[in-house]
Parts: sequence; structure tokens; C-alpha cells
Amino acid sequence: MTRDELLDLYRRSGALLEGHFRLTSGLHSTGYLQCALVLQYPPHAEALGRAIADRTRELRPTVVLSPALGGVVIGHEVGRALGVRAVFCERQDGALMLRRGFVISENDRVLVVEDVLTTGGSTRETMQVAKAAGGQVVGAASIVDRSSGSAQFDVPFAALLEVVLPTYEPAACPLCAQGLPVVKPGSRPVAV
Ligand code: ZN
Repeated sequence: MTRDELLDLYRRSGALLEGHFRLTSGLHSTGYLQCALVLQYPPHAEALGRAIADRTRELRPTVVLSPALGGVVIGHEVGRALGVRAVFCERQDGALMLRRGFVISENDRVLVVEDVLTTGGSTRETMQVAKAAGGQVVGAASIVDRSSGSAQFDVPFAALLEVVLPTYEPAACPLCAQGLPVVKPGSRPVAV
């Protein structure tokens, strides 16, 4: 899957909107990204999982570990494509942890998979969960990387699509300065 094909898929699914948006954080942005809108279509999720698997197979992972909720669907699809288990960690009392009887053993080579990498913080935290369980982290991957290259890891990292979406304080927003109306994403239906 090429970068253009992927961008087109995101646009057609309404998962990448370009315009003038007020984000949940209150910041304004020229774009809005919601991976779940692509992943809601199983064939798309499966294709993205295969694409990540093709980029990470050489790391010979034995298990995929994802942070819930955003990483669960894509992690499962990467596991399917690699033919390995896919487990997830979830937040309890503020910290990510393995629950539900999921086990990572000392023999496991762990691939950490997320939907969107923003700062790299949750990927790093998920790596710690794998290491604390005794596993060896062999790599990390995401569908989208919006860190602008600022996220660095001590294992190989692969992303299918790099997206730069600048955010602004409302008072400093150039789109507001142009008088363009601001929209809250998800406030209206999007045709696919
Ligand atoms: Zn604005």
C-alpha cells in the first residue's frame, strides 16, 4: 500500500479531515485524524495489518502487544497477518498493565503496535509492560506517525503514514485570523 493509497483511504473514510477544527483539547488545527473510522471496515483493517506485518516480519516477533483501546483492532490484524498472538494492555489506576490472563514470557519477542503515534509516550509505556513481563521488545509500529520524527526508540520503528497536523492556541490560530469558521470534528455525518 503506497502513501497516496493510504491517504486516499483515510480521506474516503472521513478519518482525515482537512479544514479548521476545534479539537477536544480546545486547540485549533488544520486537520483531524480518527483511525477508528478506517478500522471500522474489516477489509481496511486487515489490509493495514498486512502492510505493518510486511514491514516488521523480519523482526521475527512471537506476539503483538497493543495499548487499549486505540491499538486493539490494528494489533489484532497485525497478529493475524504475522500468524502470532495479539494481546493488549489497558490502563488501571493510571498505569498500563496486562490483564485478562494475558501472558508474555521470557521467550517472547514482542512487537508493540499502535494506531497513531503522537508523542511516543504510550508506545514507550507499552514497551515497559512487555519488558516488565520478561519479554524482549524487538520493534514498534503504528499506522500513522504524527510525531514529526520527534519520537525515538531503541528498537526499530515502522509507520505506514507520516502526517503533520499543526495545532494552535485559538488566539494564535492563523485560520481564525483569516476569519474561517471553526468546526468540531464528528459533529456532522461524513459521507464515505
Ligand atoms: Zn482557529
